[in-house]
Amino acid sequence: MDTIDIQNSKLKIQNIAKQLHIFRLDHIHPIISGNKWFKLKHNLAFAKENNYKSILTFGGAYSNHLIATAAAAKEFDLESIGIVRGLHAKENLTLTLQHCESLNMQLQFITKEEYDLKEDKTWLENLSKKYPEAYIIPEGGKNELGIKGVEEIAQLIPDHYTHVAISIGTGTTFTGIRNALDEKISMLGFAPMKNGKYLADQIQPTKDNWQLIDDYHFGGFGKWNDKLIDFINEFYRVNNIPLDIVYTSKMMYGLQQMISNNFFDADAKILCIHTGGLQGNVSVEDKLCFKIPE
Ligand SMILES: *Cc1c(COP(=O)(O)O)cnc(C)c1O
Repeated sequence: MDTIDIQNSKLKIQNIAKQLHIFRLDHIHPIISGNKWFKLKHNLAFAKENNYKSILTFGGAYSNHLIATAAAAKEFDLESIGIVRGLHAKENLTLTLQHCESLNMQLQFITKEEYDLKEDKTWLENLSKKYPEAYIIPEGGKNELGIKGVEEIAQLIPDHYTHVAISIGTGTTFTGIRNALDEKISMLGFAPMKNGKYLADQIQPTKDNWQLIDDYHFGGFGKWNDKLIDFINEFYRVNNIPLDIVYTSKMMYGLQQMISNNFFDADAKILCIHTGGLQGNVSVEDKLCFKIPE
């Protein structure tokens, strides 16, 4: 367990530019990386304490949450079950899903329509009957214990920053940090999907002083182009920091654009969070100038 039983001293904050620093949560673990560990840790402890045999959770064919859950459950000697969105995913397993299986995750594929029921009470009750020994974690670790874990990230953030930036998927991490962070720090959430403004209705943190940025999605969730690939490679050459293709690269691209467009005051101090997710680069690894950390 010592690989993911993190000590705060192992987590670095590095300078990228005078105004911009990065908090390397990607160093926590190659797969259970970044925010995923924080969302899972209390959930896994709860499942252990209450003698559940397995963890069941949800995700798409490229989900960092599914693979992080598979790896973390294994470390905790729990079995894992992944409910995957879309029957098409079954015909041609993505590298992420293959990796989940190699970590002993049992995959079950359901239609997108059925997947939309994943928060429906009756549907969940039936699922519990089918898997009575499984502890169910919602998609993206979005429950109270997940948010509790994420709030611990906020405790690690020094309070001299004026802005904290993070990429958003389900919004669980954004919400947890926003709730726990001093209100005088502005939170910027970068949406990696098209029309990400819908997230504003979903996340609704208890504290104000936050903003959603949805101009840097590169065509949609999981979509990318040569410009993004070039950006990731150039960023690695300059800073020696690997970014992932789905989340952190789009945030970083957006942040650098906003800095050059004078979005921030001259005395702004921005901390962006590297939420990990580097395993998601498997599909583009041949285009990148660095290897996925193992
Ligand atoms: C999952 C993930 C996110 C989004 O986290 P949410 O809590 O779902 O908003 C951001 N960055 C990376 C690298 C991720 O894997």
